Amino acid sequence: MQRTQVAILGSTGSIGRQALEVVREQPGRFEVVALAAGRSVPLLADQAAEFRPQVVCLTAPSMPPGGPEDAPYPQGAPGAGEALARLQGGPWDFLRGEDALTTLATLAAADVVLVATSGRVAMPATLAAARAGKDVALANKESLVIAGELVTTAARRSGARLFPVDSEHSALWQCLSGEPPGAVRRMILTASGGPFRAWSLERMAGVDVTQALAHPTWRMGPKITVDSATLMNKGLEAIEAHWLFDLPLQRLEVVVHPESIVHSLVEFIDGSLKAQLGWPDMKLPIQLALAGGQRLPRPDPEQRPFDLASLGRLHFEPPDTARFPCLGLALGAGKEGGTAPAVLCAADEVAVEQFLLGRLAFLDIAAVVDRTLQALGSQPVVSLEQLLEVDAQARRTAKMACDGMLKVR
Ligand code: MG
Repeated sequence: MQRTQVAILGSTGSIGRQALEVVREQPGRFEVVALAAGRSVPLLADQAAEFRPQVVCLTAPSMPPGGPEDAPYPQGAPGAGEALARLQGGPWDFLRGEDALTTLATLAAADVVLVATSGRVAMPATLAAARAGKDVALANKESLVIAGELVTTAARRSGARLFPVDSEHSALWQCLSGEPPGAVRRMILTASGGPFRAWSLERMAGVDVTQALAHPTWRMGPKITVDSATLMNKGLEAIEAHWLFDLPLQRLEVVVHPESIVHSLVEFIDGSLKAQLGWPDMKLPIQLALAGGQRLPRPDPEQRPFDLASLGRLHFEPPDTARFPCLGLALGAGKEGGTAPAVLCAADEVAVEQFLLGRLAFLDIAAVVDRTLQALGSQPVVSLEQLLEVDAQARRTAKMACDGMLKVR
């Protein structure tokens, strides 16, 4: 069988590293043709040496700004200089800067592009891959939340296929397999509820960074872990699902399921429901997306056998939007449409960053997002350039809102 040629954007992040584990576990099935990472220079150099791609990209700009082109980043990181020399001296094309992500996303040799770069920097690359008719394994949330209209329109025109990597969307994709689109009544996204599911508002007011980063069921990067603790993540996922599966947000529901065993459900017009179950393990959805929906054995000897009887009970409860206002804000922005989700995303990114720096209280994340949404409103989406402008404006507004709250405290 011809090996599937994979370009991995964001190879040193949580999803990227697990994707490379999948490639290792499936010898002869996948071949890595491109790797891109933001700033983890030593790890990227190790990955390049192991997987021998055609192209390697480091997106972080040279440091210091305006400094020599080969200055390592982050400056002074252990081994960064030596690792950068290895990247520059390798048998691959070595590219630098965020713009190069687009080159990788449209690489002729790539059958499937895994977009696992986090944040809005991945958006132009996702859009370019969709325009180029690539198969896109999508782990980046912002691409669909902010530019869902542009990306899905481009994909429809070019014939590009979008394969979800997120566990919930992978579950919905699996439930929809073999079902005509007209047969769907609603979709139900499950949410673990995060570490503060059962906390009172009073207790949540004092949440610190360590507590917010202690997710009960999933191991992920810091931004998405905080988003899971505020339930913002679930709201973003609802907007993503709306674009991926062309379903109005009014027909998408969220249910809290602390065990993260049922990954999501689809209800059909005859009242039948399909759910996808399994241990919380991102390698399954990653593998399924890289293989374009084809099921391959998971060669994981460590994998616990799945046993419903030993699980005993699974729990479900409605989400509490009074304690988790970010969920309501996201669903509201999604229903409003236009540029509102772009404003939401930018404001959340700024607020979470300030929270992680210890400069913003946990409950003020929602307040910053709310103020920014109210200040900027929504306009129809016309282009990527417009979305990037809205993003920059929302960041400035959110930063001012953060600074205002900082002064009060
Ligand atoms: Mg998820």
